[in-house]
Amino acid sequence: MRTPRTGALDALYTPAWVGLMLVVVVLVLGARLVLGPPQGAGRAPAPRPPSVELVPRQPGGYGWSLAGRRIVLDPGHGGADAGAVGRAAMPEKAIALDTALRAAALLERAGARVVLTRRDDEAPGGTGQSSLVERVRLTRNTGADVMVSIHADASPDPSARGVTTYYYHPEAASLARAIQQELVARLGTVDRGVRSADFYVVRAAPVPAVLVELGFVTHPAEARSLSSAGYRQAAAEAIVDGLARYFASWGRP
Ligand SMILES: [Zn+2]
Repeated sequence: MRTPRTGALDALYTPAWVGLMLVVVVLVLGARLVLGPPQGAGRAPAPRPPSVELVPRQPGGYGWSLAGRRIVLDPGHGGADAGAVGRAAMPEKAIALDTALRAAALLERAGARVVLTRRDDEAPGGTGQSSLVERVRLTRNTGADVMVSIHADASPDPSARGVTTYYYHPEAASLARAIQQELVARLGTVDRGVRSADFYVVRAAPVPAVLVELGFVTHPAEARSLSSAGYRQAAAEAIVDGLARYFASWGRP
């Protein structure tokens, strides 16, 4: 549709106006050349070490990216500390250990070097805070690239369900996203999202560290899932796929 020109618009196109506008443009560009861009423009504030951008999912996965990586798997709780005990046939400590052992086997098959903070029902470093300190010490002393702490969730609300991945330092956010996305895709449960929280092991670990909650032992259906080997195997595969995608973002070694 054509719009008829008004008299005012016609005035904008007179040679005098065009000449004046050209002079203004030249002056502004000249000032920027001499003085540099205005403060704050074109320069982002100094970032913390950037999170790696995740590579997209790929059929067949990124198993190659795991070769030679040092990965600490930390099954939560252990020994006298059973973790959450809900409706599941297994306490949280047993769910965490079994899932970690399954993930360790898969990672080792892909050429990764895995350190488990515990391989049996013995919490490393005793109980309480001293155990958490020992888990972080193991992560530091083994020259780990990343650390994944494995847990199951509990809530006074029996309808609470789903998987959550926690991180503390922004550098670990992309690792958390990668693992959470794979968990949600494989376990087909509620996506409670990636969250930042002050858990000691993920805050104190000297490498990108995350804490996964594989589901709620207090939810009737999810408790049954967590008690099944198939669900824990799927969770282990999801953790491994998430790690593979994360390391693929580092590029080929
Ligand atoms: Zn726990």
